[in-house]
Order: sequence, then C-alpha cells, then structure tokens
Amino acid sequence: MHPKDFFTPEQKAQIEAAICEAEKLTSGEIRLHIDRTCKGDVLNEAITVFTKLNMHKTELRNGVLFYLSIEDHKFAVIGDKGINETVPDGFWDCIYRQIVDYFKQGKYTEGLCWAILEAGQQLVAHFPIAHDDTDELTNEISFEK
Ligand code: CA
Ligand code: CA
Repeated sequence: MHPKDFFTPEQKAQIEAAICEAEKLTSGEIRLHIDRTCKGDVLNEAITVFTKLNMHKTELRNGVLFYLSIEDHKFAVIGDKGINETVPDGFWDCIYRQIVDYFKQGKYTEGLCWAILEAGQQLVAHFPIAHDDTDELTNEISFEK
C-alpha cells in the first residue's frame, strides 16, 4: 500500500484539522509524516525526515514531528531543540505510550488526532500562541514519495 492511501480523504482532513486546532493553542508547529517502511532505527529516521522537511527552521525551534511507517508499524514522536531544552525529560513518553495503545487497536486516525491535540495542550505551557502567530510549517500530512 502506498502511504498516501493509508488514510481516507476524510481521515486526512480529520488529522489536518487536529493539527490546525492544536496550533491555535501553541506556537509549536506539528507535522505528521507517513512512510511505507522504516529502514533503520525509527528515531534516526524521524530525525532525517525532520531535517528533510525543514522543520528545524522555525523561529523558536519548536517543531514536533509524528512519524509512522505503515508496513513495519514503527512510530516516533520528536521535538526540536527549543522544546527539548524547555520541557522535562520524558515529555513525550506518555503520549507515545497512549498512541501505541490506539495503534494496537488499529485506531490510527483516532490515536493521531488525540496525540496531536494532547501535544498542543502540553506545549501551550511552554510555547503559548502569540497574537501575531504565523503557520510556519504546513499542516498537511507529509507522505513518502
Ligand atoms: Ca504557528
Ligand atoms: Ca503548522
């Protein structure tokens, strides 16, 4: 299956709406990338994608990437250094654990939407939205070409 066909158009719209909703609370910029397979270590792969998508170019270095490879079921969530320098250790652990529970039940869209909104709510304490906020990174899902 091509990553683009993993979600229905309605599910894609739902996920992008969740990103939009989360980014109304926080200046953090959230993206989702879907790969078909993940060759090596999932964290390394997520970091590579993060850079490829120019996610390190936000003003506050507060990009967040949710990474999922659909064939080997690998998942990671990573934040840029602005976030890592600010939040406590284990910041992503709770979201990670809960989203994996959703995935185990096959609830990909629900899990991602929940995690995106949860990330927004947790980031707001550290990166509240500014009145002149811009959408620095598109809210569209990124798919492996
Ligand atoms: Ca923004
Ligand atoms: Ca955005």
